Amino acid sequence: MRIGQGFDVHALKAGEGLPLGGVWMPCDYAVIAHSDGDVLLHALTDAILGALGEGDIGQWFPDNDPRFAGADSKVLLTEVWERAVERGFELGNADLTVIGQVPKVGPAREAIQASVATLLGAEHAQVNIKATTTEKLGFTGRKEGIAAQAAVLLVKRP
Ligand code: MG
Repeated sequence: MRIGQGFDVHALKAGEGLPLGGVWMPCDYAVIAHSDGDVLLHALTDAILGALGEGDIGQWFPDNDPRFAGADSKVLLTEVWERAVERGFELGNADLTVIGQVPKVGPAREAIQASVATLLGAEHAQVNIKATTTEKLGFTGRKEGIAAQAAVLLVKRP
């Protein structure tokens, strides 16, 4: 078994929505990012890389590399996940937390869970989506940014 954790932040600006866990979330904000800025998938990708002992998302997909401008984070996650599968791992479970005042995660929770499970070839029950505000404190509380944390357990296939 291998354990990994990931953390990511993106700044927010006025906009029409943002991707979260591969699900489009309509709201009055957008992320400032080199890629599509899916903070939840970035944290998850980093957690998988951590479990594999293969560095971090910035090493795999440098944000100064024009190939990754506007990149779909689902594609980046899939590339890393393929490495995990190649190395003989499957998902034990993933526990993901969105930290921010916006957007409201609750109504999309099941869609995000399904999206992440599909990306990892896992059952819905292997993926847990949590959300918290920071009680209006700090940069997430002021809606200046959004953050996410991820923990994953990878298990060697028998
Ligand atoms: Mg990021």
